[in-house]
Parts: sequence; structure tokens; C-alpha cells
Amino acid sequence: MKLSKRAMQLEPSVTLAAAAKAKQLKSEGYDVLSLTVGEPDFPTPENIREAAVTAIRSGEASFYTQAAGIPELRRAVVDYMKTYYGLDYGIEETIVTDGAKFALYALFQAILDKGDEVIIPVPYWVSYAEQVKLAEGVPVFVEGLQEADFKVTVPQLEAARTEKTVAVLLNSPSNPTGMIYTKDELRAIGEWAVEHGLLIIADDIYGRLVYNGNTFTPMATVSREIRKNTIVINGVSKTYAMTGWRIGFAIGNKEIIAAMAKITSQSTSNPTAASQYAALEALTGEQDSVELMRQAFEERLNKLYPLVAAIPGVKLTKPQGAFYLFPNMAGTMELCGYDNVTTFVNDLLEDALVATVTGAGFGAPENLRISYAADWDTLEEAVRRITAFVEKKR
Ligand code: PLP
Repeated sequence: MKLSKRAMQLEPSVTLAAAAKAKQLKSEGYDVLSLTVGEPDFPTPENIREAAVTAIRSGEASFYTQAAGIPELRRAVVDYMKTYYGLDYGIEETIVTDGAKFALYALFQAILDKGDEVIIPVPYWVSYAEQVKLAEGVPVFVEGLQEADFKVTVPQLEAARTEKTVAVLLNSPSNPTGMIYTKDELRAIGEWAVEHGLLIIADDIYGRLVYNGNTFTPMATVSREIRKNTIVINGVSKTYAMTGWRIGFAIGNKEIIAAMAKITSQSTSNPTAASQYAALEALTGEQDSVELMRQAFEERLNKLYPLVAAIPGVKLTKPQGAFYLFPNMAGTMELCGYDNVTTFVNDLLEDALVATVTGAGFGAPENLRISYAADWDTLEEAVRRITAFVEKKR
């Protein structure tokens, strides 16, 4: 059968592929420990699940909704931005989407023409570059070095800017590195983007998962001018343990938001109605579970970090947010005779039954992504197995 060039050139998501492989081995009876997925291991809090059940029972969730989402939820997004970040937006500056992933997809479809460039810092979340390409845009990568906490600077961005640059994307706290840009760093990048008329795409999805006294500054709060040029991407998946419900948002320029709604109306129609009612409860209901989950992640991070840092050859920067460790494995690979991390990851899975994700999909071929969204026994045993694997191979 004929396939489009678009489909053939598209890379599958390495994280979903790694998670699927681990699941498959588990179903065949192998005792696989999976540190692959980017999702909280907690079930969605009960009040949120109940809200969806109520909307289903009452029949309210039976119908198509507005493409941009039910007005109550868009209003809740407006209130959320005010409550947490002190930002005033109008309802027409918000859209509810099928996960933050589709917010990004619709955004790139809305803003890019063929050949338009989007600057993406490396390491990056796996879907950014592929989504830019699906919109016939060109991803332009700028290397965030581990020595610089994986963050990029204005001189680096300026070196990557061309006449075709349309947007710059920042993900803070970052998946996969967990690093957070400071307000001063954001100001420098934001002012540079404003000066050159670039759209800033701020993927703030991990903004409430921040640990050990670190603070998250949203790009949109830095100044009025920067905010005007910023589209915020956010959602309920990570904060409220709702990955399966598929609800995200975008907030910013109303013409861009309207274009995204038009794209939604011709593609998915609207995000699932029951999920929207669940997300409404997530944003407006009690918030205690958010802090409890955050504390659980923080505790795991603080226990896991020294164990992973002690694996022979590992170079690891302690993350400030999100729920991943992103160790550089160059030293370990040299000790064990590997020349690339993807082979190391495959052997680790086959030999030690620990599933991790190769950094290659994040643009960092010497690194490994370990998700600590798993219970402590799993994490401890996984590190024990990884360490034993390294000791055996060296
Ligand atoms: N942005 C980042 C950085 C992510 O890590 C993810 C999920 O892994 C998303 C966006 C998309 O989240 P969702 O589509 O579940 O809302």
C-alpha cells in the first residue's frame, strides 16, 4: 500500500515505543521494571473521576462540545492563570485541546508555512521536532550543554536565527532534563524574541512539579511585551495524574487561538466531553492531592538521585522539576564497551529487565532518560539491576 512521504519520514515516539516494548515483555511473563513513561503512577484523584461519572450519568457528556472546549472549562483556565500566576486573560485567549500534545500540533499547523523555522533547544521533548515537520516547518536545534544545566542562551539562539525563524520553544521545567530557567534567563530570551518578532512557545506542563525549594517562573509573567508574544501550553496530565483523559490547553494571542480552534473543528471536533468535565473538577476542585503527589515525587528524587549518580561512569545533574533523571552515560558506555546509548538501553532491557529510554530521541545520544514516576521498590530494584549490569559488563 502506498504511504505518504510524511508518514514514512515521521519518527515514532521513542518513549511510547519503549513503554510498549516493556509492556509486551511483561505480558510474556518477564519481570520487567519499566522506567519509561512520562506519566504519574498515581490514579487520577477520586473527586475528578467522580465528576466525569456524574457528567456521563446525567447525559451532559453525551454531545459534541464547542471546538475550543466547554465555556466553563475555558473560564476555569482563565481563573487558573490568574490564581497561580497573576495573569489576566480573556476566555477567547484560551483553548482546550486533546492533551497538550494536540495543543502543540494545532499550534504548529496554525502558525507554520512550508520552510518556516522553529528554534528548539536540545535536549527536547520527543514530539516537538516531528510535529514541526508535520506542519512542513523546519526544526532548528540549539544545544543546551549539561555544563550549562542544559539551558540555552541568547547568543546561541541568535546564532540559530534566520529570516525564516517564526518561533522559539522553551520547556521549563524540562522533559527530559528537569531543569528550570530563572526569571533573568527567561527575560533575556523573551526580550530577544520580542525584539525579533518571534513567537515564544512556553511549554509549562511541569510547572507545578518543582522540588527542593526551586521555583518555576512562567515566561508569560516576565513582562507585558513578552506575554503578548507568548503562547502558553499546559494541561492536566502531569499535575493531576490525568494522562489518559487527554486534556490540555493553550493560552495566548486570540487570532492564533481561533486558528487552532478551526483546525480542531476540522480534525478532532473537540476534546472528549467527559474528560472536559473531569478537567473542570481538576482545576476548580480541591487541590490537596496535587501537593501530595508533588511531595511523593520530591521524596523519590532525593532518594534516587544519589543512587543513580553513583553508577560507575555516570554524570548526572540534579533535576529541579518534572519527574525524570537524565544521566550522561558516556563514561559508563566507555567502561562497558558500548559506542551508543540505544544499544546500551536495549541490552539493559534484555539482560537486566530494566526498561529506560534512549536519549537519542531527545537529541542527546549520550544520555538515558529514567522516569521516577514509579513506586520506590521498583526504583530501588531498577537501580540495583542497572548497577549490577554495569559491573558485569565492565
Ligand atoms: N509537553 C511535554 C514536555 C511533555 O512531556 C508532554 C507529555 O509527555 C506533553 C507536552 C504532552 O502532554 P499531554 O498531551 O498528555 O497533555
